[in-house]
Amino acid sequence: MTLLEIAQARLRDPESVFIECDDGRSFTYVQFWNLAGQLAQALVRQGAKRGDRIAVQVEKSVEAIALFYACVRGGLVFLPLNTAYTANEISYFLSDAEPSIFIMPPGKPQPSGIKVLTLDEFGGGTLIDYALQTSSGFDDVADDAERMAAILYTSGTTGKSKGAMLSVGNLSSNAQALAKLWQFTAQDKLIHALPVYHTHGLFVATNTVFASGGRLLFRRKFDVEDVMQVMPQATALMGVPTFYTRLLQHRGLTRDATKHMRLFVSGSAPLLAETHKAFYDRTGHAVLERYGMTETNMNTSNPYDGERRAGTVGMALPGTDVRVREGGIEVKGPNVFKGYWRNPEKTKAEFTDDGYFMTGDLGHFDEKGYLVISGRAKDLIITGGFNVYPKEIEELIDAMPGVLESAVIGLPDSDFGEAVTAVVVLKTGAALASSDIIQLLKLNLASYKCPKRIIIVDELPRNAMGKVQKNVLRQTYGVRPV
Ligand code: AMP
Repeated sequence: MTLLEIAQARLRDPESVFIECDDGRSFTYVQFWNLAGQLAQALVRQGAKRGDRIAVQVEKSVEAIALFYACVRGGLVFLPLNTAYTANEISYFLSDAEPSIFIMPPGKPQPSGIKVLTLDEFGGGTLIDYALQTSSGFDDVADDAERMAAILYTSGTTGKSKGAMLSVGNLSSNAQALAKLWQFTAQDKLIHALPVYHTHGLFVATNTVFASGGRLLFRRKFDVEDVMQVMPQATALMGVPTFYTRLLQHRGLTRDATKHMRLFVSGSAPLLAETHKAFYDRTGHAVLERYGMTETNMNTSNPYDGERRAGTVGMALPGTDVRVREGGIEVKGPNVFKGYWRNPEKTKAEFTDDGYFMTGDLGHFDEKGYLVISGRAKDLIITGGFNVYPKEIEELIDAMPGVLESAVIGLPDSDFGEAVTAVVVLKTGAALASSDIIQLLKLNLASYKCPKRIIIVDELPRNAMGKVQKNVLRQTYGVRPV
């Protein structure tokens, strides 16, 4: 089914609620769909034509999600942008994507040379003013699985961000595969506390529920206290690993508090096996870890029924083919994007001759056929001609008493090409010296893998999805000695 066909199925029940907000508002599927239709009309009346990009940098709101569906209905291309991007970064995206309309919060300096409409987090702004002048009827542009529905810029932790072109078919096939695999039904209530400019909150969480007729318990941001409070009404949570480490710090997280929940899903960054175990011990729930990326939607998942193996991301989704070649993870299937926006060379370079997308992630299948991710190819360190996989060293450091977490990177070195360097965060009050860490590592590692330098820091830089930004570490420590 395409997204419009899924919507038609949802609209049959006028009572059915799609979104319940943390401010008391709620939207039935019919109301939500009408809102999307009105937004589509407003965009068209403001000059958007079929295939035009609609760039959106706004705070999380129901209207922001409805804008995606407005683009689907109107044959437009949704282009969400991280709220953290500065004016400089935005000007790059606007010149690269050439959207016809840019939607941003009111009261901020507006870029020139582009039509700007405003939207605030409470559902106000010029976009809404225009939408209110329209009627609820809207003639949808015919749904075509090949049509581009969205461009999502990759997070760009290495080099410039590239726009990943996602088709209607990419999104609808993935939503339906996940809804089936994770057994979502109209009875489900999913806590939605993720940002909506990223594939996880925008597509995985929202479209999976949309495809199953369930309900979103929509939170404007992730707040542990708030999530704990809403949990008794919920059946499922989708989050990044940080959600789970934070929930574990809450005393109220018990078997009793989670007894109505049927599913906890984690992804977007590695969930430590230790976190998986701690969560299971406290709640009796084995977090289901899955793996995907902006370009491919979701690729693999631990099983719903059957063993959910800590430290693995499970098996390929039905219909998707995942293989490992020379250590690199490659993917083919209806979920895989159509290429990078206006960048055919880069697109060609990232696909194999037989049509697999080279994810840039490294991994292997374990003895039970579960995929284990061992890092990013770009993070591989080559020191004195030897390959060093940061994860192997990080795991050893993380297991040391007194260590909270670590990130191992390669820094330019005149002698070795790259010098293995470990950036380490200690637990509060721990008195572990750099020399202790090196000594302990020497017991377990070939000497070329041992860090030449240990840098102790208070915290690791992370992006909003909880990913450690190794590029920031390389920039910070690569130029000046510490
Ligand atoms: P993004 O495009 O921002 O969603 O980032 C995608 C990248 O996040 C992937 O290529 C992986 O490197 C990483 N990633 C996503 N899910 C997982 C996971 N479950 N475990 C480890 N890394 C993950």
